[in-house]
Amino acid sequence: MNQKKVLRWGLMLLILFLTAWSGWINSSELSNRETVESSKTLSPDDNIEKVCEDISSCGFFGDQLIRELPYDFLDTQEVEDVYVEEKILARYKVQDGKLVRIVEGEGSEGNEELWRLFTQVIPMNQRQMIGEFGVFTDGIGTTLAYVEPLDKDPIQWTLRIDPADTTSFPDFIYTIVHEFGHLLTLKNSEIPIHEDSYLQLFMDQFWDHIYDEWIERDVFEDEDEQLKFYDNYPDKFVTDYAASHPEEDIAESWVYFVLGEKPTGEEIWEQKILFFYGFPELVQLRSEILQNIYQLPQSSEE
Ligand SMILES: [Zn+2]
Repeated sequence: MNQKKVLRWGLMLLILFLTAWSGWINSSELSNRETVESSKTLSPDDNIEKVCEDISSCGFFGDQLIRELPYDFLDTQEVEDVYVEEKILARYKVQDGKLVRIVEGEGSEGNEELWRLFTQVIPMNQRQMIGEFGVFTDGIGTTLAYVEPLDKDPIQWTLRIDPADTTSFPDFIYTIVHEFGHLLTLKNSEIPIHEDSYLQLFMDQFWDHIYDEWIERDVFEDEDEQLKFYDNYPDKFVTDYAASHPEEDIAESWVYFVLGEKPTGEEIWEQKILFFYGFPELVQLRSEILQNIYQLPQSSEE
């Protein structure tokens, strides 16, 4: 983190600390004005189930949490890559949401802390498909984390995190929400893709006119084509990486849905975020994840 950034975060934190309490009260008043049907005042510790009985106040609750959090999670930082050949540092078997034993490498408090952070953000009932947690490194930059199905049991997935890339808390949160977006849209009940899969509905709505071109230009395999493809359609994607593959598009749009306020414009990239608002279970999950992030100690002290 450079000095400018430290200064910027420091200033932002100071302002946020000074205005946190009054800001929350003000935004709660705003919520009461805007969601006419909801007369109750929302607070960050409210019971999600209750708040989310009403889907519009549930969405607004999420927006309020975003305004309260002292980070802009969507403002990711570029780092200079220092690539080393990828190696696995440790693998753990996961059962019932917990690390039960080491199956490769050596365990460490640091590894387990990364898993703890992930489980504190993503609710237990949403991560049953994770059968393994791994820690790897490919140097600084390049890949922060990834998920992939387990060879032995493709219904189960592994989540792997590179501790060398976890120095920025907001970037870490961005990445685990992205990886979870893959698990959400590629888990057993979603795949093979069927007409009610989130990914199928997303592609029906947003990929009909670009899919053939994406295939023809081999965008997924060719990095130059990826940038050109994005440059041709900058209003269609939340990030340039989203243009690489429909699976990355839905995962990146999911991150913008969870960590950004509800968009008000009509661009395609905004419609991709609004797509998720069509599913009450996802609006509730967003608020739950945001409340979990809000309650992390890291969220009140950088
Ligand atoms: Zn991805």
